[in-house]
Amino acid sequence: MSELLQLTATQALAKLHAKEVSSLELTEAHLARIEARKHINAYITLNPEGARAAAKAADAAIAAGNIQPLTGLPLGIKDLFCTNGIRTTAASKFLDNFVPAYESTVTQKLWDAGAVNLGKLNMDEFAMGGSGENSGYGPARNPWNDTLVPGGSSSGSAAAVADYQCYAATGSDTGGSIRQPAAFTGLVGIKPTYGRCSRWGMVAFASSLDQAGVITRSTEDAALLMEIISGHDPKDSTSSPQAVPAWRESLGKLNLKGLRIGLPKEYFIDGLDPKIRTLIEAATRQFEGEGAIIKQISLPHTQYAPAAYYIVAPAEAASNLARYDGIRYGVRKEGKNLVETYLKSRTEGFGAEVKRRIMIGNYALSSGYYDAFYTKAMQIRTLISRDFDKAFEEVDVIFAPTAPTAAFPIGAKSNDPVAMYLGDVFTIPTSLAGLPGMSVNVGTIEENGTRLPVGLQLIGARWNETVILQVAHAWEQMAGLTQPPFQA
Ligand code: GLN
Repeated sequence: MSELLQLTATQALAKLHAKEVSSLELTEAHLARIEARKHINAYITLNPEGARAAAKAADAAIAAGNIQPLTGLPLGIKDLFCTNGIRTTAASKFLDNFVPAYESTVTQKLWDAGAVNLGKLNMDEFAMGGSGENSGYGPARNPWNDTLVPGGSSSGSAAAVADYQCYAATGSDTGGSIRQPAAFTGLVGIKPTYGRCSRWGMVAFASSLDQAGVITRSTEDAALLMEIISGHDPKDSTSSPQAVPAWRESLGKLNLKGLRIGLPKEYFIDGLDPKIRTLIEAATRQFEGEGAIIKQISLPHTQYAPAAYYIVAPAEAASNLARYDGIRYGVRKEGKNLVETYLKSRTEGFGAEVKRRIMIGNYALSSGYYDAFYTKAMQIRTLISRDFDKAFEEVDVIFAPTAPTAAFPIGAKSNDPVAMYLGDVFTIPTSLAGLPGMSVNVGTIEENGTRLPVGLQLIGARWNETVILQVAHAWEQMAGLTQPPFQA
C-alpha cells in the first residue's frame, strides 16, 4: 500500500487509467494514511463519504472508457476554497459552522476533470501567516520533523503532500504561501501570474495579490494540475482571457544552451542562511555547465517590498474581512444590541494575527494616513514591478532562494511578528508584481541534527509560467527527482 501512496500524481493516473488499480483503492489507502498520521494535523475537515462516492463514480467512468485527465485522483484542498456542502473555515473559528452553497471555480474544474476530494486542509487563519501556527485548529506539523512548522499559509497542503496524505493539493499564495511551504517540505509549489486562475469562491485575503496554485511532488504534476485550474472565468473579472499553454507537453523541450539566468544581488544578503546560498549557487553552476548564461542582475527596490506588502495586504484584508459581522456569515455571538453582536462576534471569532492585520489595515487607510502609508506602498509596488520588467529585458528566468531559512521550530517566531514577516522577503516582490513564481527542491541542509529541504525559487516574466516549469523540470532531470522521506 505504501508504494501506491508514494506514486506521483502522474504515475497514479497512469495506473488508474490502465486499470491496474482502482480509485477506491487509492482513496481508501489515503484515508487510512490520514487516520494513522493525525498528529501531522494536515486536514481540518475530512470528506470520507464524498471521496468514496466520487472514487466509485470514477471507477465506473474508467470502466466505461470515459476518462478525463484527473479521473480518480485523490487530492486535498486548502480550506479557503469554498466547497459546496463541505464545511469551509479558512482555519478561522469565525467560520467554524460555514457550509458553502457553491463551489469555487478552481475546485469545480478539478472535479470536472475527475479528481476526488479527500478533504479540506489546514492553513493559517485567512491565509495570514508563514508557518501554519495562526490556524484556529492548531498548527500543522512538518513531516520531515514534527517539531517544526511546514511553512505557511498553505501549511496543511504542504504537510499533506509531503506526508503522502494526498497526491497533490491546491494552495493560495498572496505573498509566498505556496512557494515557502513547498520549500520547507521539499516539494514543488507554483503560484501563476496574477489573473491566471479564477479567484471566484476563494475566501478573500488581499484581492489584488491572491492567486491559486498547487503543491505537488513533481513538476510534471504541477504542470498537469495548473493546466486544469487555469483559464478565464466570467465570474472573476480579474481572471485573464489569455490562452492556457500546454505546459505538460512543453516540459523537456527547453534548450538550456543560451538560457539567460538572472541572479538578483539583493536576494543574496546577510540574512540568508549561508548553507542555502551554497546550494543555490551550486545549482546555478550546474545550469551553467549545461550552457546556460548566468547574469548578475539588480532588483533595487527589493528591500522595500515587505514594508509595502504589509501595508497593501492588511489594507485589503481590513476591507475584505468587514463582511464577517456575525450576521451574514459564520458564528454569531449574541450581544444586547446590534453593535455589541458585531463586537462580540469579531472579538471572539478572529485570532490575534487577523485582528492585528485588520487594525494595521484600517489605520493605513484612515484619512490623514492614507497618503503617508497606502499611497506610498502602492508607489513602491510600481517600482518593484518596473525592476522586474527591466530585469526580464536581460534574462529569461530569475533564480533566488525561496526563503532565507529552512523550516523552524513551532513556537520559535510566534511572539515576534516582524521576524515572521521578514521571512517573506524573497517571495513578496513577485506577488506585488503579479509575476509567476515557483519553488523546487534544490537539496537538503543539516540543521540541529535534522536533514531539512531547501527551495530554489524560479521567477518568470508575466504569463511565462512555461519557462519556470521547464527549468524546474530540467533541474529534476539533472539532479534527480527528490521525494520527501516516507515515514512509516
Ligand atoms: N506570509 C505572508 C503573510 O503572512 C504571505 C501569506 C500568503 O501568501 N497568504 O501575509
